[in-house]
Amino acid sequence: MKIAVVGAGITGIVSAYELSKQNIQVDLYEKDSEIGGIAGTFSYDGFSLEKYYHHFFKSDKYIEKLSKEVGVYDNLKWVNTPMGYFSQGALYDFGTPVSLLKFKPLDFLDKIRFGMSVVKILSINNWKHLEEITAYDWIVKNAGEEVFNTVWKPLLVGKFGDRYKDISMAWLWGKIKLRGSSKENGREALGYFDGSIGVLLHKLEDKLIKNGCNIILDSEVQRIDKKSKFNIITKLGESTYDGVISTIPLPEFIRISRGMLPNSYIEEKKSIEYTAVSCMILLLKRQLSKYYWLNIGDESIPFGGLIEHTNMIGKKVYKGNNILYISNYLYKDNAYFDMDIEDLLDQYIPHIKKINPKFDKSWINDKFLFKDVFAQPIIKKGYLSIKPELETPIEGLYVANMCSIYPEDRGVNYAIKYGIDATKKVGKLHEK
Ligand SMILES: Cc1cc2nc3c(=O)[nH]c(=O)nc-3n(C[C@H](O)[C@H](O)[C@H](O)COP(=O)(O)OP(=O)(O)OC[C@H]3O[C@@H](n4cnc5c(N)ncnc54)[C@H](O)[C@@H]3O)c2cc1C
Repeated sequence: MKIAVVGAGITGIVSAYELSKQNIQVDLYEKDSEIGGIAGTFSYDGFSLEKYYHHFFKSDKYIEKLSKEVGVYDNLKWVNTPMGYFSQGALYDFGTPVSLLKFKPLDFLDKIRFGMSVVKILSINNWKHLEEITAYDWIVKNAGEEVFNTVWKPLLVGKFGDRYKDISMAWLWGKIKLRGSSKENGREALGYFDGSIGVLLHKLEDKLIKNGCNIILDSEVQRIDKKSKFNIITKLGESTYDGVISTIPLPEFIRISRGMLPNSYIEEKKSIEYTAVSCMILLLKRQLSKYYWLNIGDESIPFGGLIEHTNMIGKKVYKGNNILYISNYLYKDNAYFDMDIEDLLDQYIPHIKKINPKFDKSWINDKFLFKDVFAQPIIKKGYLSIKPELETPIEGLYVANMCSIYPEDRGVNYAIKYGIDATKKVGKLHEK
């Protein structure tokens, strides 16, 4: 039996790894020149950095299990991380009961409403009824318009832009529940791989090679179709397979396999859209703020979050650099998305100065910009009815990607879960 896995992000790598463990012959296709996708890393001056900031939660059991299995669990360190919120021109601590009491943008009554609504969200275990209500409607009903506008609206706009009112409450519940459960001694504790997530990725890559999997880089799959077997078409030619697991973004999957798929499937899945992301990394001479994770609650600022990585794990391994990620979720037709790094930085600088007025361009030792068109599916009310299952209407063709993950928020942990689950379907094919 021979299987093609399309896309070597974390989902595809894990699928290929699971299949190769069962002695199934696997070809893993990746359009880029390296593995990792959005979870990819790069080397700089002797250390490794994520292209996009990555941390993990205490509830990420699939990461724990996989990293134990491949022998990198000892690299996973748990750290208490300071979270902040920038609102109405000032920085506030955020995420603990004490910080809520000191959070000036909300008056006393709204602080109570906000706190109670978060407690209510965390106490919900059966999320199904949240499927039919938007986050906007739920929060306004349970905490009031002022709480929504002051705290939640900037966060939702930061991720989904003008679609913020459409987002499902089930999605927000999943997000808060995951983050809220990652606590140690009442403070947020996040996990990070010593040496970056590249430690896990490259360990998996080594295992894949050892197990005989072909990792075919620089090979964009242009088309998938089926005659008696599946055909995978790349610029190198055509190869045939008994089954295919596609882990590429859903719209890309539909584009390259539309010849095979029924119209009803295409039309339904086409309605799932994504936001893009532009993520700038600054290597700074000085610390910008004391926060690891700084939410930007000010819609005049064009980015949604500042993640000062070295406020989580220190700057020793980074040769003294302070590592700052400037996260900007946006739509691909937004002018910021196509800007080159110099122009974008010039746009950002006046806003970075709002966070720390002393910030100056001379603080920057180096900088990088990474972008991805398929960063986050837009999860609207009633998503469950259109969520792609692992099986497609074509027997032997499976999909596992960020859109499969719901109500939990997309992330590495669930990418691992769905990457493994897809291989169980192939296993059933194998038994036939
Ligand atoms: C800014 C940002 C921050 C994040 N932070 C965290 C975090 O802190 N913790 C966490 O757990 N998760 C985080 N995530 C989410 C996490 O990175 C993703 O859920 C995960 O990496 C998705 O992996 P994937 O393999 O499903 O998709 P992808 O990483 O998108 O992989 C898909 C792969 O398919 C390849 N491909 C596409 N088309 C083709 C084709 N036609 N032929 C061949 N190859 C193709 C792509 O090049 C890519 O390598 C973050 C995401 C973003 C955007």
